Amino acid sequence: MSDIRYDPILDEYSIIAPERLHRPDCYASPAKKRRKKSRECPFCEGYESLTPPEIFAIRKNDPDTPGWKARVVPNLYKAVKIEAPWSRHDNGIYRAWDGFGAHEVIIDTPRHLLRMDEWSVEEYFNWLYTMRARLNDLRNDIRLVHIGLFKNHGHYGASTQSHPHTQLIALPTAPVGSLRQMKHAGRFFNEHGQSLFDALLASETEEKKRIVAQSPSFTVLSPYASGFAFETAIFSKKRVSDLGGLCDNDLHELAALMKGVISALYMQLGDFDFNITFNTPPLQKNFSTEDFFDDIPDIWRLGIRIIPRLFRLGGFELGSGIEINPVAPEEAASLLKESIEEMK
Ligand SMILES: [Zn+2]
Repeated sequence: MSDIRYDPILDEYSIIAPERLHRPDCYASPAKKRRKKSRECPFCEGYESLTPPEIFAIRKNDPDTPGWKARVVPNLYKAVKIEAPWSRHDNGIYRAWDGFGAHEVIIDTPRHLLRMDEWSVEEYFNWLYTMRARLNDLRNDIRLVHIGLFKNHGHYGASTQSHPHTQLIALPTAPVGSLRQMKHAGRFFNEHGQSLFDALLASETEEKKRIVAQSPSFTVLSPYASGFAFETAIFSKKRVSDLGGLCDNDLHELAALMKGVISALYMQLGDFDFNITFNTPPLQKNFSTEDFFDDIPDIWRLGIRIIPRLFRLGGFELGSGIEINPVAPEEAASLLKESIEEMK
C-alpha cells in the first residue's frame, strides 16, 4: 500500500510507494567511476593560486597560501555577481532583477576526501564554522534577502568537482517556496501558540518510530513525508532559526552528530550521491517578508536535510513537485538507528 503524505514544514506532498522498489531496474545506477584526484585539483592544499583570491579561511598565516583548514572563494562560474547593479525592472507581466548576488564556494577541507564518513569531527566543525561565518557576514549586506546554502555530492547530486565543497548563493529576493513555508509556519504559530517545529519534534519524540538520533540540542529524524529514500533531517531543539545563531558548543555537538548520521547513511547505502541543504529563513525585512520577519525567532528553527540521490527524477516529479519515494521513512529510520548502534 502506498501513502500520499503531507510534510507540514515544506508544505508539500510526497508519495511513499514501497512497491516501486520491486521494479527490475530500480537499483540500476551507473557503475561508479572512482573519482580520482586530478593532478591539479584547484581546491587541494598547495594549489591556492588556481582559485580566485579567498574571501575567508580558517588559518593563522597569509591568505592564498597552504596552511588552512577550510577556505571560501568566489565561484568561478557564478550564477550571480556582487558587482552587478542591485536593480529590479518589471516589463509587463515579467519581473527581473539584474544578476546581483553572491556565489561562493566553501572548500570544506584541504584533504581531497571523497567520502564524508572519512572526515574527522574537527573537519565537520571547521565546515560548519565556515558556513556560519559567511552567513553572518553576508547578513550585514542589506541588499541580500536570501541565502541558499547547499552541498552537491556525486553525479546524481549534480556535483562537477570531486573535492569536498559546499556552495552559497545569496540573492536580492527570497524564493517563493521559502516565503510560502515561512507564511505557513507563521499561521501555525498564530493558531497553536507554538512553533510548527516544536510541535513536530514533540510528536515525533513521542511516536519514536522515525527518530534516528537525539543530542541535547538537536533531533535527527526521517521526515514523515520524505520525498527521497533515506532522506534525513536534523532540527534544532533550541530557539535558533539558522546556522548563524549556533554557538561554538552547538557546532561541536552538531559536528559529532552529523558525522555519526552520515556514517550510518554510508553503512546503509555504500558510496552514495547526495545533496545537503540548510533551511535559512529570509535575512531582511522588505515588502515580501514583512508579514513574518519579526516573528522568525518564534516560528522557525534551523533544519538541515541530507537527501540521498539514489534515483533519477521523472516527469511526474518535475511537473507536480511531488516526489515518489520507495523507502518508507520508518524503515529508513530503523536501519539508520541500527547502524548508529553498531558504531558505538
Ligand atoms: Zn582536491
